[in-house]
Amino acid sequence: MLKLLRKIVTEVRAETDLEAVLKLIVCRIQEGMNTQVCSIYLKDTTNKRLTLRASEGLHQKSIGSSLSQHEGVVGLVANRAEPVNTDDIEQHPSYCFIPGTGEERFHSFLGVPIIYQREVLGGLVIQQFDGRRYKETEESFLVTVSAQLAGIIIQAEATAAVTVTKLQKKSQVDRCFIGVSGAAGIAIGKMVVVSESAELDSVAERQIEDTYSEVRSFEAALEHVRSDIRSASARLAQRLGEQEQALFDVYLKMLEDNSLAGEIVKRIMQGNWAQWALSSVVIEHCRQFDMMDDPYLKERASDIRDLGKRILAYLQEQKGPQSIDLAEGSVLVAEELSPAMLGEIHTDKLLGLISVKGSGNSHAAILARSMGIPTVMGAVELPYKKLSGRTVVLDGHSGRLYLNPSTELLQIYQAQLEQEQQQEAELDVLKMLPAQTQDGVTMPLWVNTGLIADVQRALDKGAEGIGLYRTEIPFMIRNVFPSEHEQTQIYAKQLEAFAPRPVTMRTLDIGGDKSLNYFPIEEENPFLGWRGVRVTLDHPEIFLVQIRAMLRANDSYGNLRIMLPMVTSINEVTESIALIDQAVLELREEGLKVERPPVGVMIEVPAALYLTRVFARHVDFISVGSNDLTQYLLAVDRNNPRVAPLYSSYHPAVLQALKYIVKEAQREHVDVSICGELAADPAGALLLMAMGYNYLSMNANNLPKVKSVIRNCNFSEARVMLKKVLRLNDIEEIKTEMQSSLNAMGLGSLIKEGSFK
Ligand code: PEP
Ligand code: MG
Repeated sequence: MLKLLRKIVTEVRAETDLEAVLKLIVCRIQEGMNTQVCSIYLKDTTNKRLTLRASEGLHQKSIGSSLSQHEGVVGLVANRAEPVNTDDIEQHPSYCFIPGTGEERFHSFLGVPIIYQREVLGGLVIQQFDGRRYKETEESFLVTVSAQLAGIIIQAEATAAVTVTKLQKKSQVDRCFIGVSGAAGIAIGKMVVVSESAELDSVAERQIEDTYSEVRSFEAALEHVRSDIRSASARLAQRLGEQEQALFDVYLKMLEDNSLAGEIVKRIMQGNWAQWALSSVVIEHCRQFDMMDDPYLKERASDIRDLGKRILAYLQEQKGPQSIDLAEGSVLVAEELSPAMLGEIHTDKLLGLISVKGSGNSHAAILARSMGIPTVMGAVELPYKKLSGRTVVLDGHSGRLYLNPSTELLQIYQAQLEQEQQQEAELDVLKMLPAQTQDGVTMPLWVNTGLIADVQRALDKGAEGIGLYRTEIPFMIRNVFPSEHEQTQIYAKQLEAFAPRPVTMRTLDIGGDKSLNYFPIEEENPFLGWRGVRVTLDHPEIFLVQIRAMLRANDSYGNLRIMLPMVTSINEVTESIALIDQAVLELREEGLKVERPPVGVMIEVPAALYLTRVFARHVDFISVGSNDLTQYLLAVDRNNPRVAPLYSSYHPAVLQALKYIVKEAQREHVDVSICGELAADPAGALLLMAMGYNYLSMNANNLPKVKSVIRNCNFSEARVMLKKVLRLNDIEEIKTEMQSSLNAMGLGSLIKEGSFK
């Protein structure tokens, strides 16, 4: 059964056309389960009727007939979201057959719901002449198949909905795809899809005009690979037996014109770019081999994939890094946006960003927010490979994407875009004014930086200090560790730009979703693994170089503060401080007059939360990394869009924790701030101010909005709101209370309804 399941899933995945997908499913199940009928009913999104979409065994002319969602046993399966298994369907109280299907001949019936993310899409049914109850193993098999196929059906449906066919000019207007908000704002532009380097599965479809030059590029890449194989074969000639040597010849044969290469050229000549022609042919071949029972032939799939990747790497090399070819008004789409990718992009032509993977608190989203580029993350159903050049409306507030937008929708979003641009310009006047409440409480607003451009943006918005400089970002856009001299220059830029205002540099925080391609960390659970200070304490040589570079850079400015990420235990704090002292001594020996700068820790882990007071006795300041703290408190991966709705800073446990940290830090008279994304949320900023945080650090783009809200509120009223909120136990109640308190404070127009994440 498991073999059959794998076979069906592999074969079905290869199809993108919805009707073909459904047909294939029913054929394979009918045949594999040795039953007389297999049918799929899907719910119509508009009238909710259950339509027979594909069947093997029922009369084909009845495909397209439908039942109301409450009719028949199929309706019962869908309504109850449960299987129904009976040996005599005609005796079932819900029995109602669709005339013309011919189903009255079949007595046994087993129907299971098709469910995707809690939503019932329809039902998968098998039927049989003789009256027998299907076995339990058959029932659980059908449930398993259905669970696996639901995602594939959704993908195929999405593709069908956005595919412009020759017959139908536009198949569905305003087709909406739901993701997660990455960075607020609206973008209307043309999609440019980027592929991950040498990843066959992420190559996007793209049409080209000049097929001959594309074939030439492909042949050049092919020749490179042939020559690589020949040299490898020659190099290893002495060490390999005859049989192994023959493998190289097999490889070379595969690349001949009448084999893989011929098929690829044919696809290019049909107007496709070489990268997609290559990936689609290779993937198809791999699937065929994968489905074979013979283990030797099965293995050949990995040979073909390997060859394909090699050719792809050469093709991508010809096109330059990442093949990012941005025209004016582009919206960049990637399977997984990475911080490194963002570090390399020229943003002047970029209107928006879309990532199929990742979530609102992934580091790519955080960077997008600091760049002020509207972004949608986790658009998992978007058939992105087919969308190059298509117009998209990107709503970064709600995390929605609209394809095939109607004129009306375009007009609505265009008007909203202009209104937001105007509001942003109006906030510019606040730059030189303090973030002071109506009743005279001042809340210093600092910024988080990482990219070079962040410094200027931060100064333009009137930031009063840097509360978090993510030093790993410059590490991520290089191919080797930057030297001490290079790091000194990088850090000096941040210190100089803000002197005499404080600049808080966080020591290298890699691991989790931040990787260095020259220092790969491969782990099953990266967020629970080797991250932050755990890495740098294991590699004092990396840590010491970084600290020395910070201290050298600080020599002329004196505004440095050093901050340690991901600390969990006190020994991590004391050992890090000892290393910082060692770096100070080393520089003194060189003749520099350096003192140990203020050192602080981030509270990002529940264990650290309970040790706030202990840490406070050893350090000069505390800063809460609420992004990670929320992830670890709620056990919700900040990178996983599937659980994104569960990630909320307004969870009562998160708010209680944030309040607790302030109280504990105050008991030791140590400054406490916050540099997680909650500080950049205007409503969140008010709660944090009311809790007693000494300053807030956020992305520069949100700073004016936060300042405007603070200037328009009373501290005493914010305290009352906090008190009410801390008494509540449910996120939704908290959000409702927040909204009504804000409305009562006259801030309803500044803070949009539903903006609390
Ligand atoms: C945090 O975790 O809140 C934080 C500021 O650090 P980062 O987002 O870089 O993990
Ligand atoms: Mg963190």
